[in-house]
Amino acid sequence: MSLIQPNQIPFDDPQLTAIRADLVTALRGFLPEDAVLERTEEVQPYECDGLSAYRRLPLLVVLPRTVNEVQRILRLCHERRVPVVARGAGTGLSGGALPLNEGILLSLARFNRILELDPLARIARVQPGVRNLAITEAALPHGLYYAPDPSSQIACTIGGNVAENSGGVHCLKYGLTVHNVLALTFVSPEGELIELGSAALDSAGYDLLALFIGSEGMLGVVVEVTVKLLPIPERAQALLAAYADVEQAGRAVGAIIAAGIIPAGLEMMDGPAIQAAEDFVHAGYPTDAAALLICELDGTNQEVSEQVMQVRNLLLASGATEVRTSQNDAERLRFWQGRKSAFPAVGRISPDYYCMDGTIPRRALPEVLRRTAELSEEYGLRVANVFHAGDGNLHPLILFDSNQPDELERTEELGGRILELCVAVGGTITGEHGVGIEKINQMCVQFTPDELRQFHAVKAAFDPLGLLNPGKGIPTPRRCSEYRQLPTAGSKS
Ligand SMILES: Cc1cc2nc3c(=O)[nH]c(=O)nc-3n(C[C@H](O)[C@H](O)[C@H](O)COP(=O)(O)OP(=O)(O)OC[C@H]3O[C@@H](n4cnc5c(N)ncnc54)[C@H](O)[C@@H]3O)c2cc1C
Repeated sequence: MSLIQPNQIPFDDPQLTAIRADLVTALRGFLPEDAVLERTEEVQPYECDGLSAYRRLPLLVVLPRTVNEVQRILRLCHERRVPVVARGAGTGLSGGALPLNEGILLSLARFNRILELDPLARIARVQPGVRNLAITEAALPHGLYYAPDPSSQIACTIGGNVAENSGGVHCLKYGLTVHNVLALTFVSPEGELIELGSAALDSAGYDLLALFIGSEGMLGVVVEVTVKLLPIPERAQALLAAYADVEQAGRAVGAIIAAGIIPAGLEMMDGPAIQAAEDFVHAGYPTDAAALLICELDGTNQEVSEQVMQVRNLLLASGATEVRTSQNDAERLRFWQGRKSAFPAVGRISPDYYCMDGTIPRRALPEVLRRTAELSEEYGLRVANVFHAGDGNLHPLILFDSNQPDELERTEELGGRILELCVAVGGTITGEHGVGIEKINQMCVQFTPDELRQFHAVKAAFDPLGLLNPGKGIPTPRRCSEYRQLPTAGSKS
């Protein structure tokens, strides 16, 4: 059951062409010439996000500069019943920003200003198109930083981070986006401006802020975000441990947490990922290892000194064949360089790769890794594993070649089985990349029909006409009943 049909309606379909022409005239009534893109070659760069196996041309692309313009665009689309897909930097890995042939692609790229940075209150108020790393760059002179650090942080936007509830290496200790955003302003599908949260620790009413974060562009378009900034720790030091056996490395992760240590990052890579990263960035990784753990500790000088010794002993006791401790910041960053470049590194050794994202209880790590290796064998597709081991968030990267007949379909099926394995061991089908279109079938496995009905009700409360990012995130009951008939599908009735 393939996830999407590419270009269901041709770009030059006469009916679509007429709708496009009418909309362009109306949009040009209040948007500057360069804010509306309508020709094939102009809209083509927006045909996919980071999940590039799926592509669709949008009806047209709009690039507003002001909140008022966003409100007017949404009002117009509401009047004419035109669907809208918001887009940040397009680095999403679950197809969340995949456009619709009959819908507008609304890019927030021009909302790239930091509106306020208050070092005393330790907050920054930013526009949604500001890049994640740009917030930390602006805060560094004040001794502050923004903690959630997706590996894509050089490119991805805070609006996209809010929509996906993004995570990163630091999230084990400092929380996901939802734990680091204090307030936001969004535009509703009817064009209203709505504020959620506050700069204080709590705010009145239902916690709609938490509901909104991770809602994948389906409830409103974010136009401003207030984030928390944290003081840069006095010291950070990393350890790198090599293992001859993946399961041993998995057990070491549990041992560190069980000892009461919460590292600033605790990441793992398996053999294929180590080799690919080393060939790409030459970080000095031991390429004969079956698994590599990178553990970062931060805090005061004394805390870090004590914990480094403790973790070193735990790593050796759990069977590490080699343990290195970074001697300075340059070496610490070199340890991380391979891990942070792992996705593009894997992209170099295969024509295509599909990045999965599931979360499991830490104790199930060895079992899930073993089953993933068996599934990889069964499907005849290589899998490289890179993951945020500390929080049990797996990123199996399935290597495939979309030019080979059926290979994408087999990849989808293998990916689906890995996610359903996560559910079977008590985990979830998402960790930080969202559902989008990629995991829409597995939503039918994770949730019961009653639970899914509640999700649809929440969506309808914000967006009764279903105009914002339709077809993503929540499967229809019909899709689920068809999916559950498949022999390979897991089940939850
Ligand atoms: C190499 C690589 C590494 C990555 N590493 C990580 C990682 O470590 N952790 C992690 O969590 N993710 C990671 N990602 C995934 C991705 O970068 C994140 O999901 C990121 O938050 C997407 O941001 P974006 O600006 O690119 O959003 P887009 O891809 O443009 O959009 C993502 C979703 O957000 C919605 N959206 C965007 N802007 C708005 C807005 N203003 N209002 C409402 N909805 C909006 C879109 O409709 C879409 O549903 C990685 C991706 C790549 C390519």
